[in-house]
Amino acid sequence: MGSMQTDDAPDLPLVAHWIGGVETPGTDPRTAPVYDPARGTESARVALAGPAEVEAAVAAASAAFPGWRDTSLAQRQAVLFRFRELLHERKDELATIITAEHGKVLADALGEIQRGLEVVELATGFPHLVKGAFSENVSTGVDVYSLKQPLGVVAVISPFNFPAMVPLWFFPVAIAAGNAVVLKPSEKDPSAAVWMARLWQEAGLPDGVFSVLHGDQEAVDGLLTHPDVASLSFVGSTPVAQHVYETGARHGKRVQALGGAKNHMLALPDADLDLVADSAVNAGYGSAGERCMAISVVLAVEPVADELIERLTERIGRLRVGDGRRDPDMGPLVTREHRDRVASYIDIAAADGADVVVDGREVTPDGDPGGFWLGPTLLDRVPTSSRAYTEEIFGPVLSVVRVPSYEDGVELINSGTFGNGTAIFTRDGGAARRFQHEIQVGMIGINVPIPVPVAYYSFGGWKSSLFGDAKAYGVRAFDFFTREKAVTARWPDPATHGGIDLGFPRHD
Ligand code: NAD
Repeated sequence: MGSMQTDDAPDLPLVAHWIGGVETPGTDPRTAPVYDPARGTESARVALAGPAEVEAAVAAASAAFPGWRDTSLAQRQAVLFRFRELLHERKDELATIITAEHGKVLADALGEIQRGLEVVELATGFPHLVKGAFSENVSTGVDVYSLKQPLGVVAVISPFNFPAMVPLWFFPVAIAAGNAVVLKPSEKDPSAAVWMARLWQEAGLPDGVFSVLHGDQEAVDGLLTHPDVASLSFVGSTPVAQHVYETGARHGKRVQALGGAKNHMLALPDADLDLVADSAVNAGYGSAGERCMAISVVLAVEPVADELIERLTERIGRLRVGDGRRDPDMGPLVTREHRDRVASYIDIAAADGADVVVDGREVTPDGDPGGFWLGPTLLDRVPTSSRAYTEEIFGPVLSVVRVPSYEDGVELINSGTFGNGTAIFTRDGGAARRFQHEIQVGMIGINVPIPVPVAYYSFGGWKSSLFGDAKAYGVRAFDFFTREKAVTARWPDPATHGGIDLGFPRHD
């Protein structure tokens, strides 16, 4: 957490940039508020970068890059292992920071760190994943082989909802592959990024290989157009993802830009309804619905809807909403503005003819009344023409849409603009197999509500949930963060060899 202060609010700490291995407030006078969402109070200010800070972060990364690129794989691997151990040991500390600024319950904050750790663990095995290929004697005396080399300075721009996990989807791979990273985290919960930067320093990463630049659109646009930034890995809402993709591409950069979502669960009449209800509640209200893989629509294939609504309502009645530090099931929303926006969809749905079965505005939280509270909300018979159905709400609002058949459900999912995640609940293997084949979505769960792939597969959706052709993490992430060279070589027979050395071969 910041130890500096700002003129905007002299009593509050300032979350400063981390550039070249040191904390710096920069020279730009702009700052933004950071809230404690469970109390509804401002807990800090965050520095916002202007052109000078963008320049300083990119310059520090450019200066650090050649040394890190030329550091042996063995030494890079040792740093990654140390980072993994430190993050594992101190994850409670990081979870506390996440809960204080994001609002999610501590167990959930720990869950996101654990999923991020999986990517660090994948990255520790990187020497195997940055190997090139070799073809001997393609013509007489000629060999061809390929080298995978890092890109240089790479930028990561992340959203508020996973302040640790989403950056961890990218930077362990980028750093392992030999790049220097500039991370621009969400200005709503910026402290986790700085905490991880300190951890890298402790793990022995050379200064400048990982910098944190705080800011808003100005910082992002600075990175998008900077000639020394080679690639952008963006996660956030669809309009910004598209802007990042198009602007980055226009400036000759490699771009992966993950956008928003509207994930449907298709509940077939033969499904185990208790499993469906438990899963929909977990996936709809976990992290207050502020997950890009949250289920926001349950398509109930008749005749199960009445029975399902009953089971959902009963479970929602048992959920405890409160300050994430007090171990409830669900915390507050990230800001008052976001809370009000999410709540506005309840009126929109009602005006369009939906039934408001549970109204989260009536919640009594276990926490400060000033917090950004909205309880779990259940809407039934939501018209598919309503903005409550077509738009991403990103909060604890679960809509039930009643459909007459499997085919109608698939048709609805496939006609949507997003294609991030989806799930089918059924006991029929044939139906599940057909669903996985014909559904136009990037990540699919079969009786699994939040099908976030493990680290050695890749994360990413279809359609307006992902711009570019490179998903996050997984083995192929090493292709995104490296460039290939093909070498064609002809060598005569050696006249001499390396001489005698009886020492055991070492890697240093
Ligand atoms: P956001 O798009 O508002 O912000 C994301 C990042 O972009 C932040 O760092 C922010 O500072 C920056 N930004 C905001 N407006 C900008 C602009 N006009 N120009 C340039 N940069 C800008 O998203 P958010 O509210 O922080 O996060 C929630 C969104 O992220 C949801 O839409 C959610 O679905 C999406 N998300 C997607 C995934 C995925 O994997 N597809 C994962 C997590 C979150």
